[in-house]
Amino acid sequence: MTQITHRKDTRPVKVGDVVIGGNNEVVVQSMTTTKTHDIEATVAEIGRLEEAGCQIVRVACPNMEAAEAIPEIKKRINIPLVVDIHFDYRLALKAIEGGADKIRINPGNIGKRDKVEAVVQAAKDKNIPIRIGVNAGSLEKRILDKYGYPTADGMVESALHHIKILEDLDFYDIVVSMKASDVNLAIEAYEKAAKAFSYPLHLGITESGTQFAGTVKSAAGLGAILSKGIGNTLRISLSADSIEEVKVGRELLKTFGLASNAATLISCPTCGRIEIDLISIANEVEEYISTIKAPIKVAVLGCAVNGPGEAREADIGIAGARGEGLLFRHGEIIRKVPEETMVEELKKEVDAIAEEYFQE
Ligand code: SF4
Repeated sequence: MTQITHRKDTRPVKVGDVVIGGNNEVVVQSMTTTKTHDIEATVAEIGRLEEAGCQIVRVACPNMEAAEAIPEIKKRINIPLVVDIHFDYRLALKAIEGGADKIRINPGNIGKRDKVEAVVQAAKDKNIPIRIGVNAGSLEKRILDKYGYPTADGMVESALHHIKILEDLDFYDIVVSMKASDVNLAIEAYEKAAKAFSYPLHLGITESGTQFAGTVKSAAGLGAILSKGIGNTLRISLSADSIEEVKVGRELLKTFGLASNAATLISCPTCGRIEIDLISIANEVEEYISTIKAPIKVAVLGCAVNGPGEAREADIGIAGARGEGLLFRHGEIIRKVPEETMVEELKKEVDAIAEEYFQE
């Protein structure tokens, strides 16, 4: 795959114990949907997100009550916490003081110089980064007046404006997002941003829609960007359970061979040769391997006619045969198992291979 080098050339930025940029893999993020001040609900959602493979989580901080909840939330979660703030520097200060691992705020929107300096100094003192979130839908009036409507150049200009404010204060732990709900605009904006600066890029297609449409739209947009070697972290934005965002993000990274911490399912499209209830088995196996943190490939095939050979790259797989299943590794059949127990047998093999992987 021909790739430009932006992904590897970016500055590594530390967010808690996760590093975005540098030589690191693309990091999957999500955002909670709870009221942040509802600590119980927020911590519970973060726990589910973490289990699903979310590596960094963001919470909205619309008011002081939310900012005051940060220390307790921090205490009770295991992944880095990003606090999302719009405009109000007091919320930023409170969140930083409360232990945020990163804040998302646009320095150009904070207001007077002394407020910007206070936030930047606080971030420096705690050694945490700031994400600049450029959004096509909320570009500065000055930029909209210049370009007439949201353009990729306008978005890059906005990003550079916010970056300069931070750099002038000797602050460089910066991550930038260039979100748009128009997929073509987002692709162009990220491409231009990758050429304009070397801070890591947080990818996202904003307001992408429901679980179904948003998944397609996000995969199309972010897939195009990732395939060019651009992007260091991503969040899929869906009008759905936040767990779905993580699932889609992880699947997208696997598609491009960018995740070494996730197992992949290969399943056949089914045809008239099918010998087993493949669709429900595939869903069950997909669910089972979703929490496995090893890059193994598991195949589920409807029949053995072309089956094992069709999935030669699979570390382990099962193909339906009359009344039984054929377990195979890398295209070679290893043994036959009764149909009733074949899924259980497959799961055991998957666990054994995952264990082997971690022992190597
Ligand atoms: Fe058809 Fe068998 Fe191929 Fe599945 S594996 S698509 S059932 S031939």
